[in-house]
Amino acid sequence: MNHDTQINHLKTSVQFLKGIGEKRADRLKEVGVESILDLLYYFPRRYLDRSHIPKIKDLRENETVTVVGKVQFMGVKPGRKKRFVLVLNDGTGYLNCVWFRGVAFLQKAFETGETLAVSGKIGYFRDFQMVHPDFDRLSDGGDSDFRNTGRIIPLYSSTEGLGKIGLDSRGFRRVVREALPGFVKELEETLPAGVLKRQELVGLKTAIAQVHFPDDKDALRSARKRLKFDELFYLELMLAYRRQKIDRTEKGIEFTKVGERTRKLIEALPFELTGAQKRVLKEIREDMKKISPMNRLIQGDVGSGKTAVGLIAMMMALENNYQAALMAPTEILAEQHFLTIHELLEKLQVKVVLLVGGLPKKLREEALELIQSGEADIIVGTHALIQDTVTFKKLGFAIIDEQHRFGVMQRVALMKKGLTPDVLVMTATPIPRTLSLTLYGDLDVSIIDELPPGRKPIKTVWRGDKKRNEIYKFVLEQIAQGDQAYIIFPLIEESEKIDLQAAIENYETMKQGIFSNYEVGLLHGRMKSQEKEIVMSDFKSGKINVLVSTTVIEVGVDVPNATIMVVENAERFGLPQLHQLRGRVGRGGKASYCFLIAKYPISEEAKTRLNTLAETNDGFKIAEVDLKLRGPGDFFGTKQSGLPEMRIADLVKDTELLVTAREEAFDLVFSNKQKMNLEDLPSKAHFFQNYHDKFELSRAG
Ligand code: ADP
Ligand code: MG
Repeated sequence: MNHDTQINHLKTSVQFLKGIGEKRADRLKEVGVESILDLLYYFPRRYLDRSHIPKIKDLRENETVTVVGKVQFMGVKPGRKKRFVLVLNDGTGYLNCVWFRGVAFLQKAFETGETLAVSGKIGYFRDFQMVHPDFDRLSDGGDSDFRNTGRIIPLYSSTEGLGKIGLDSRGFRRVVREALPGFVKELEETLPAGVLKRQELVGLKTAIAQVHFPDDKDALRSARKRLKFDELFYLELMLAYRRQKIDRTEKGIEFTKVGERTRKLIEALPFELTGAQKRVLKEIREDMKKISPMNRLIQGDVGSGKTAVGLIAMMMALENNYQAALMAPTEILAEQHFLTIHELLEKLQVKVVLLVGGLPKKLREEALELIQSGEADIIVGTHALIQDTVTFKKLGFAIIDEQHRFGVMQRVALMKKGLTPDVLVMTATPIPRTLSLTLYGDLDVSIIDELPPGRKPIKTVWRGDKKRNEIYKFVLEQIAQGDQAYIIFPLIEESEKIDLQAAIENYETMKQGIFSNYEVGLLHGRMKSQEKEIVMSDFKSGKINVLVSTTVIEVGVDVPNATIMVVENAERFGLPQLHQLRGRVGRGGKASYCFLIAKYPISEEAKTRLNTLAETNDGFKIAEVDLKLRGPGDFFGTKQSGLPEMRIADLVKDTELLVTAREEAFDLVFSNKQKMNLEDLPSKAHFFQNYHDKFELSRAG
């Protein structure tokens, strides 16, 4: 059979399978199953291993288990709370399954004598019971089938709608079993023979057959490994293609010179660069020399000194007669960068210009003029930099600070302002390296994994709001000794007005009350740029002792004498946000404190977040917890990741496989040693379909 007909055969609609038909086929679209091929790739959600099922007589309260037995009795029990009760018997004892919801449906769902698997937590009420268990009907047309075939039974996820038309887990099992033998033969291998051999992977036919109906545990493991690899391999293959395209087609700038001014700048810094900073600078330097445009990510925990690295790189661009731009996510941060850079570079005859949305008209026009004429060497700003009215004379280098706060499109827009500029993006989101390779795809990654010397760990505690007075008393004592404090109130878009009002009211109360002998400042996003600038510089100079602020200071702000951070309603903040906020203190050599005040009721997840903060200062560990709590999808956010959803692979857990898949994929694209028609390869792979659209989206990396 030739290639095309094979593909077409598997591409046939599931509607023609026995027992499906038009109506069910239509419904199956809900779960992404349209063709027979889709069905073969509709993998079980989990498995039931019969050799590991506990006997009812051995159950213990509070265990979460799966039990298999026959329906002995079922019925509706009237009473204060009407409920559906089903008694399961496995020959060693009886287990009551109880449902309070869906009684009408459940009454018709089961048959006495049929075999069921139920999963849930064991409770006790006169007898062992499970309330609202997950259930799976195991009798596949006479339960002999179940008894005689393998010990491992696949359980498929379904929806209520599908369940009603017979496509519950058992329905899927039946349909897949029916289709598998005939169609699995037609699958064509999607991995090159060399890869299969080197990675010791089973063939696709075996993998698909075994993932649905495994012979045993080992066969299942091999099948899953192979399919995970497939998925990761194609993901990486797409990234490799994208990378190849950029390498080939785009010509950037060769920054050949490193001169006197760069050296002078390094000398002018009030500190010695750390080893990590030096290493990363060298990596950047190598990129800048090359004709292909740099696309590099610097990842470094809060306070690791990314700004200095970026600044030195900008200076190198200047020495080659190009302009450099630095884009920051907030006005406050842009202003702060502007001040720092301006102070350092004035002596070196570098013209630094600030461009933010809130500038008065006249200043704005002046800035635009300087940018266009080329008089401005370094331009620092917010997304105001990417507006149409901004024209650069010769932008050759662009930095995006706190990259996670920008979308892909904003980054592209800044790139387009230049002459295929070298781009450096900086982030404090510390994600595992293997993952960032994938996530950022064609970006090269540099890691600053060392903090400047002399940093003291920040002492962090979280308390319920009953302890507020005690905490503020402590804060007051510290202020009296000359330290400065941040007090942060949450502000989210949905409740912006109320949040802002709360922050302002609290500011007033503290100013009149506990901190009445001190200078208290207020900072929030609704203030004019110049007002904000004044407050910030007063805080920096020490004129303001206590700064009450919304989360506008979350990123980047740097005031080394501030040693206390109080976060109100800390239960409302996400982990990375709290870590960023906390990073505002502990920047000098003094001991620093972070108090997280939470308001009850506090969810379990919020408690985990707060405990994590209290336990560690390590951004890497914090990110891992965050990743676990939220899962990769939310963790990265669709905006920046553009990652396709994984069906079987887990980007967090399967990093080892990810690394090998990446090596193989990049090797294939860049060396093409293997006999495989590259153009043809992706079209054969089922997984490719998932990726295609997503990759258009995330093209800019
Ligand atoms: P981040 O990586 O969070 O953006 P910054 O660049 O704001 O960190 O740096 C944090 C602080 O550390 C700043 O006050 C900066 O001046 C200081 N700093 C940066 N590099 C060093 C260094 N090598 N030695 C000492 N202090 C440094
Ligand atoms: Mg920074």
